[in-house]
Amino acid sequence: MKEERRRLPSTSPSGTYLAAGSDAGFAWTDELRRSITSVAELADHLQLTEDERQGALRAEQAGLPIAITPYYLALADPLDPRCPIRRQCVPHIAEDREVPGDMVDPLGEAVHEVAPDLVCRYPDRALLLVSDRCSVYCRFCTRSRMVGAGGGVRTLEHLTPAFIWLAEHPEVRDVIVSGGDPLVMSTDRLARVLGRLRDIPSVETIRLATRVPVTLPSRVTGELVDALRRYHPIWVMTHFNHPKELTELAREACLRLVDAGFPVMNQTVLLRGINDDKGTLETLFRGLVRWRVRPYYLLQADPVRGTSHLRTPIESGLRLMEELQGRLSGIALPKLIVDTPGGLGKVPISPDYVVRRLPGRTVLRTFRGAEVEYVDPQ
Ligand code: SF4
Repeated sequence: MKEERRRLPSTSPSGTYLAAGSDAGFAWTDELRRSITSVAELADHLQLTEDERQGALRAEQAGLPIAITPYYLALADPLDPRCPIRRQCVPHIAEDREVPGDMVDPLGEAVHEVAPDLVCRYPDRALLLVSDRCSVYCRFCTRSRMVGAGGGVRTLEHLTPAFIWLAEHPEVRDVIVSGGDPLVMSTDRLARVLGRLRDIPSVETIRLATRVPVTLPSRVTGELVDALRRYHPIWVMTHFNHPKELTELAREACLRLVDAGFPVMNQTVLLRGINDDKGTLETLFRGLVRWRVRPYYLLQADPVRGTSHLRTPIESGLRLMEELQGRLSGIALPKLIVDTPGGLGKVPISPDYVVRRLPGRTVLRTFRGAEVEYVDPQ
């Protein structure tokens, strides 16, 4: 596929991306420092529409701030406001709009906080929020209430009550380290957090939730991978939403992780006008599988206040899953998930392939539309 083999130019059309990962001396922190954070910088690189300009002005004053790495900005079309990269990272005035059903904290994380920055919504797993910083602030972010709020990386002292709570709750076996983005922290600080988690014998699995392979792949260095693999088993949960994000640098980042023994799982958020068509999703999922990244969830976008312009009705996801079923092998087909508002947990939803249930027999519909009877064993 064309996008997959694309190595970014050393200079983007807008002249912003100059490092391109091929420079051995390039530091990811440099790239972060050169991120676009203001309306003026955005306007230097993109031909903004009035709705984007107003949205960016609003974002400078309140709500989710602007941050876009030079790498990610170089993927955006400087002229076309419908560009799927641009729509994910450039604010829009529609963020000011509130519609029925919108929530500030749709997953009820604040009410499920069991210690500072530790959220527990399920019996066997917990979410540890180690920072409020990300390399790019995604306009659909579920945690827009807190990311970029200025608290920065949480200290070990601040997280100590969370470690104590986890040690006292051995039923929690899986800890998702998130934020913000944990890979935006220094390697040393992140390693210290992982070390504290590994000191708790009941914590079996650690997951790192990160968008860095998508938005700042230069961060996935050999040094990072070597430091983190000491704390295995660690799974990496990442977040590719569109085939334009499948660049050569992103591929190298994912392969570095996979080759070092980190299973990499992808959660795609279904976004209106960005990826809500079967061709886009098929290309994305096939590309990820070629990198040994598992398309894990297709997430119905959470009803975060100010994101209605990016969300789709549930019916769209069901239709897309129906269109993809049979076209894609099981390893390329994610589950469609709704994370129920209020923080009551994820629900998998699926098109209905059961036509009729009879005593001892079930009539099923195949992906080609044929009806087939399955007879239960006596
Ligand atoms: S990287 Fe994740 S936490 Fe950060 S803004 Fe994007 S979706 Fe939100």
